[in-house]
Amino acid sequence: MSLTALLVDGLTVRFGSFRALDELSLAIDYGEVRAIIGPNGAGKTTLLDVISGITRPKQGRVLFDGAIDLTGLSEAAIARAGLRRKFQKPSVFEGLSVRQHIAIGADVGFRTRLDAPALEDRVGEVLEIVGLVDQSHRLAGELSHGQKQWLEIGMVLASDPKVLMLDEPVAGLTDEETERTAALVRALKRPDRAIVVVEHDMDFVERIADRVTVLHEGRTLFEGSMDKVRADAAVVEVYLGR
Ligand code: ADP
Repeated sequence: MSLTALLVDGLTVRFGSFRALDELSLAIDYGEVRAIIGPNGAGKTTLLDVISGITRPKQGRVLFDGAIDLTGLSEAAIARAGLRRKFQKPSVFEGLSVRQHIAIGADVGFRTRLDAPALEDRVGEVLEIVGLVDQSHRLAGELSHGQKQWLEIGMVLASDPKVLMLDEPVAGLTDEETERTAALVRALKRPDRAIVVVEHDMDFVERIADRVTVLHEGRTLFEGSMDKVRADAAVVEVYLGR
């Protein structure tokens, strides 16, 4: 295993003549929680779209685990390699139970299928981690917004990802739900996993992130701890100061 989970190398994505990503390079290590922040239009979603295989870059590449070139692979192949993403908007199946969701996540995500007892065990473990044991037989459509977010995190977690991408996990959550989500994200940290979080809530970012990358106009404006990010004049000017 390489120390670097994800190496983004010179990515350029254009929409017409507009550069959503502009020769962007960054490295994310195993064991860290990395927050990607920046103003609207900075390229955060486009970056996650390239890593997860939704958008093909015009230039540059994404290497996983030091050597595996993901550039141009399908979304399914990237997921099978161990990179999973929770999208911004909850998109649960209203008529399926919480337990069924986690089982689907575990069943489709692993490289080799789990047998029935192993699947049961995994579902139980994940329900415990995301705090939905008591809700396990409820229909997803009956859950609160926060519970839906945790359910989706559980679905991607079920396949034991090496790279976990969370797109705005606390958007629209109450303070208490945000607090719980921060504890959950910290609990998901592991030496053999990288967690990448796109989020606008700076207090949440401060609680969860080991390092923060600030994007602006498709490039890295700053990278460092949240303390250093808050103290950087350029970051305050383009993002935090508004
Ligand atoms: P962020 O997530 O940081 O708000 P995005 O990655 O969504 O930024 O977008 C970066 C820029 O690229 C924005 O100006 C956006 O309007 C533009 N953009 C994103 N997707 C498309 C697309 N499919 N077609 C045209 N422009 C796009």
